[in-house]
Amino acid sequence: MADTRQCAILLGGLGTRLGPLTSAMPKPLLDVAGQPFVDVLVGEALRRGFSDLLLLAGHAADVVLAYADALSARLPADARVRVSVEPEPLGTGGGVRHAADLLADQFLLLNGDTWFDFNWLALLGAPGPALAARPVPSADRYETLELAGDGRVARIVPRGQAAGQVLINGGVYRLDKADILRFGRKFSIETDLLPQLVSEGRLHAIAREGYFIDIGVPETYADAQAAIPRQRRRPALFLDRDGVINHDDHYVSRPERLRWMDGAADAIRLANDLGLHVFVVTNQAGVAKGHHSEADVQALHRWMAAQLRRAAAHVDDWRYCPYHPDATVPGYAAVHPWRKPAPGMLNDLMAHWPVNRAHSLMVGDQPSDLAAAAAAGVASLHFTGGNLHAALAPRLAAMAAAPDEEPA
Ligand SMILES: [Mg+2]
Repeated sequence: MADTRQCAILLGGLGTRLGPLTSAMPKPLLDVAGQPFVDVLVGEALRRGFSDLLLLAGHAADVVLAYADALSARLPADARVRVSVEPEPLGTGGGVRHAADLLADQFLLLNGDTWFDFNWLALLGAPGPALAARPVPSADRYETLELAGDGRVARIVPRGQAAGQVLINGGVYRLDKADILRFGRKFSIETDLLPQLVSEGRLHAIAREGYFIDIGVPETYADAQAAIPRQRRRPALFLDRDGVINHDDHYVSRPERLRWMDGAADAIRLANDLGLHVFVVTNQAGVAKGHHSEADVQALHRWMAAQLRRAAAHVDDWRYCPYHPDATVPGYAAVHPWRKPAPGMLNDLMAHWPVNRAHSLMVGDQPSDLAAAAAAGVASLHFTGGNLHAALAPRLAAMAAAPDEEPA
């Protein structure tokens, strides 16, 4: 799987169905529950490791430029956002092509006014250009996708010609820059590029179930105000690191010493696919005791994240505690509220992310993990070794099936 880090988002459309709301505002920048809708897509991209954000603007581009300025101030250090402004409406494909100088060889592309909530990393495993397909019970309003046995799209069926449960385009793509450059200045992803790829037998479909919303019509825009915060509030899987994700080989600080627990990537990907948050919370007293530095811990976590991503798995956020009361390294001697059994790391994550606490789970191999969970009001599971996926699969399925929790 290529290490695709770029996520481009189409923001240039006119949004005429929403009337005056979008006369001076790109539809994806409309406020949903106190933040621009596109912020949802940006957040979903970032937690999956898409660190190179490309906003494709047209109509009311000044609003996009201002949004990007504000966004760049709060991005993590390893992420960036850039904006490409089309000089006139060029179509969805033309808007991408206009940004050719900024495009990576392979990139994820999102419609900016819809959110299809599934694990987008699944698209990166496709052997070529791919789109996300979503099942709908009735096809009359949509073109539908006819798949070949090998997952390729055999045919795009015109509106009104398919009946019953069908697959339709979910508006999330994994594309190659080389294909974009084959077209002229003005073209459409949907009506030019996709049919071309299908005719060449090169377009793959990844079919997924998942929450979907299109804010482009007044009724769904109104629904979105309550529905999107509810959808984003996910149960969380909190994972201890040493003894859960990797074997506890005493102050592991370098990739060559890390032995993954059997089923670790599979367990994390399952939680991702089920729509849960995944967080790591790890005591790293090795820093306080001089075995390694915080930079070593951070570098190891970046390496682990890259390895997991190759298995279409992602950790949304990481917390570690470098402090210990018996530190030998100056500056790290503390009875710190983040050090398990204290709940500080879990509470900090729940302050930064919308978490359905009642249906979350902490998995650890030590009594201090279980105590931290209890202090944070989170259920816990004592992992004693073996295959992590096998140990967690039933619990994760139950968490995903749990009822939504209304945002506070
Ligand atoms: Mg442990």
